[in-house]
Formats: sequence, C-alpha cells, structure tokens
Amino acid sequence: MELKFNLKGAFKTSADPTGAKEVIAQYFDEANNTILKKGAPEGQGAKITQWDIVDGSIELTIESGRYVRAHDAIMRLKKPLAAKLGKDFRIGIRGVDVKEFTISMPAEGEIGNMNIPHVSNISKVEGGLILELDVGESELERRIPDRILTLMEEKVRAKDYGGKAEHWQIIWESDKKEHTFSGDPTQEMMKHGWIKRGASRGQWIHGPQSTKMFRTFEKIVYDELLEPLGYREMIFPKLVPWEVWQKSGHAKGVYPEIYYVCPPKTRDPAYWEEVSDHYKVTHEVPTELIKSKIGDPIGGLCYAQCPPFWMYLQGETIPTDEFPIKVFDKSGTSHRYESGGIHGMERVDEFHRVEIVWLGTKEQVIETAKKLHERYMHIFNEILDLEWRKAWVTPWFMAQEGLTGLSEQGEAGTTDYEAPLPYRGDDGEWLEFQNVSINGNKYPSGFNVKSQTGEELWSGCSGVGLERWASAFFAQKGLDPENWPEEFRKRVGEVPKGIRFL
Ligand code: ATP
Ligand code: ZN
Ligand code: MG
Repeated sequence: MELKFNLKGAFKTSADPTGAKEVIAQYFDEANNTILKKGAPEGQGAKITQWDIVDGSIELTIESGRYVRAHDAIMRLKKPLAAKLGKDFRIGIRGVDVKEFTISMPAEGEIGNMNIPHVSNISKVEGGLILELDVGESELERRIPDRILTLMEEKVRAKDYGGKAEHWQIIWESDKKEHTFSGDPTQEMMKHGWIKRGASRGQWIHGPQSTKMFRTFEKIVYDELLEPLGYREMIFPKLVPWEVWQKSGHAKGVYPEIYYVCPPKTRDPAYWEEVSDHYKVTHEVPTELIKSKIGDPIGGLCYAQCPPFWMYLQGETIPTDEFPIKVFDKSGTSHRYESGGIHGMERVDEFHRVEIVWLGTKEQVIETAKKLHERYMHIFNEILDLEWRKAWVTPWFMAQEGLTGLSEQGEAGTTDYEAPLPYRGDDGEWLEFQNVSINGNKYPSGFNVKSQTGEELWSGCSGVGLERWASAFFAQKGLDPENWPEEFRKRVGEVPKGIRFL
C-alpha cells in the first residue's frame, strides 16, 4: 500500500458562489498543475479529484501522497481563491470545513488498540492501515495530520523491528582481567554493614564506608577529569516541570519511569485538617483523601539531570569566546521507577550521578567528548584497573525520531561504558556504568540557545553513575582494600568504621 491522504472538505463562503463557477473551475484546473505540484518530485503532489457547489459552499476532494499533503494543499488554495472571489464577485471565504480526512499508510502485521487524539478510527486492511481523522481547520494549520502520521510510522517501525533494534557496536575493549572477587557486591556490602535498604523502593542508605567510596569516585572524576579539563561546577534543579521535558524531548516517552510530583491544591491548614485528624486517630495515612486534595502533576523528580540546566541558557545569545561551555552538577539525586524484581545497587530508583555537560560548535563538541574519553580511559585503566569496554549505541531520542542515520555517521550518538560483573558468570550481561553522549543540536535548538556568529550549536553530556561505578568496581575487586589497585587505595585512605549494632 502506498501512503495516501484523502481530504473531503469545503470552503465556506460569505455568499452563494454559483455565479463564480467558471472562474473556480478554471482556478482548480490550473492549481492541479501548478501550486498543488510545487516542491513535489515529478509526477507527485496533490490533486483536486472532484468538486462542486453544494448548499452555497465549495465542496472539494483532494488526494495526495507524501508531498504537498492534502491538508497543505487545501491551505495553499485558500488565499488565492479568496483573492479571486473577492475581486470579481465580492465573496469572502469564511473558513475551511473538513468533512472527511483519511490517511492510508503501509503497515505489516497486527496493530493493537490505540487511543490517539484526533483519530476516530483505525482499520487494518491488506498491507496497511486506514486512519480516520477528526480534524478542523485549526488542526490542519497546526499540522496535526503530519504528527499523527509520524507517530504511526514510529509505531509501525517499532513493531517491525521488535522494539529492540537499538544499534550496538563495540568500539574499544580492555584486556581480560583476573578478578579477585566473584560475589554479588550488593550482598557483600550489606554483609559488611556498608549499606542498608532504605524505606522506599530501590533506595539505599549508605553508611560511612560506602559514602567514602562514592566521595572517592567523585574526587577521582574531579581531580583527573573535571579540574584539568576546566569544567565549572553548577547546581541544577531537581524538580523538573513539564516545560523542561517538552523542550528536551523527554515528554515524548519518559512516562513509565518517572516519579511524579503533585503540589497541594492549597496550603490552607484548614483544608488539610481532616487529613491530620484522620492520621491522629487511626495512625494511618489516608492516601485516597490526600489524592483528592493534591493538584495535577506539575512534572517529576530529576530523571536525566541535564535538561533543567538548559533553562539557564534558554533564549540567550552567547559570545563566541565562551565556547566550549563546560559545566557539571553533582548536587542531588536522580529518580527512576525501574522494573520490579530483585535488583541490587546497580539498578536503583534513587541514584547519585555526576552529570557533565558541554556546548559549542559541532567541532568543539566532538573534540570535547574526545578529551573526556581520554581521561575516562586513564581512570578506568590506571586508577580503577577495571575490565571494561566501550560501545557505540543509538541514543533514545534518535531511535525515537528515526534519526539513526546521524548516529551511523558516528558523529552524534552515545557511547556506553560497560563492565562485566564476575558473579553473573562468563556469559552474564555486562553493566552500563556510564555514558558519553553527543546530542547534536537537539538541546540548543529545543531551548533556543544561539551563538553570536549564528553558527549551529551542538551539545553533549556524560553521566557518571556512582552506584554503577561501585557495582562494577566492587564486583571485580571485592571489599578488601588488600585487593584494590594501589592508585585507588591511596585515594581512599582509611576506610571509616561503620556504625555497630547489637
Ligand atoms: P540501563 O540501560 O542500564 O537502564 P540507561 O540507558 O537507562 O541504563 P541512561 O539513561 O543512559 O541509562 O543514564 C545515564 C547513566 O545514569 C547510566 O550510565 C548510569 O550510570 C546511570 N543510571 C541510569 N539508571 C540508573 C539506575 N536505575 N540506577 C543507577 N544508575 C543509573
Ligand atoms: Zn544528560
Ligand atoms: Mg534504564
């Protein structure tokens, strides 16, 4: 099946246009060969296949393929037609009525039930789908049909590739190493009183020993990478409103994994008194009652760490000599609603990360990423002595937007750093413990950040997950300082005593 748009609509006129029938006929004939073909490849474009004057308005049917889509076509016709009717007949066009709008698109296999705005019906036919749209003039102007098609094409693609089409290509691998430990590091840390489970899902309380390790990791990143490469520390917000995720693109798909935030409908104590009273009497927190007293979610807790930073740059024009801008944030936790099931410290709902962000011209951004990779290489080889590898992957937003081409050219895209966890066995899954991403112009364009010269800006980010570093390092080396590489032991110094219990 070929992609086809079919629009049956009408131009509403201020008076009966019957007297102008000749002129309209001539104009539509001409349009079929001119403005409805303009910009389309030879032999393509839109076509008025039928029209008539019905009840004092001009009804018409437009068919098109991918180029000069039917909804664009009707908008292209409107102004010139209004000019003709106005000049010679003193008739105005009051608006466009859409009576029927269908998109026929190629698709194999089954497609489940879906609830998509402005789509009143989806039917499966041989080799494709027929979407019936419920749209008016304002939706045509806002290009809603294009967004619906893009969304459906994404869904079909995801189905075709079974969802798991993420491109993964190894680009560097360390030597195999002898590991001095083969246990599960989370279990081992619990056993030695380094950590305890927190009260919330996927949350840990770090004792003095584990905290010292996290601080040592941070210090290594600071001393070996951030300081020598000239990064400046900032503090990014940790409550992220929708506006930020709309601009960063996360609003397209972050929903299953975020922790939502709802403010109270009012902070009037009288409004909340029945909640307190209920608790005081029953010692139960009345969550249903609370639900009725809080507002809609305003956003969620920090998920990807860098998006809220961009509000600092939003709408600004930045002088050339500021670039590349290099900053980092380590001011708070990130939160993700991870899958259920048993996970240790490597997959938690509340985690700690140093987020590194840079911005500049395309060349500067690629060069900056290269320097980060070199410093990381030094850290993992010379200081932590890890077994690890690097893989080039298609980042979420590119996969989601069908931009895998850019990633295949090796410019914009993500490098995952992965380590084997010996306790998982020789064939066990490796753990992604951090990444370095070159995000192309996505953020500068989403947040409208400009350079003085007008040159296109790119950006990158890198997330150093401390739980992931700990999981990889202690899985390979264990908790006994005797078995740690000298360079790491030196930086840790004394491991603090834990809190004892009877
Ligand atoms: P995974 O595929 O393992 O879930 P991800 O692709 O979701 O990882 P990113 O979204 O790339 O991870 O996040 C960047 C970094 O944040 C990761 O490299 C990791 O260090 C850290 N991170 C992400 N999710 C978690 C988690 N649930 N627990 C601990 N650290 C995490
Ligand atoms: Zn980021
Ligand atoms: Mg994940």
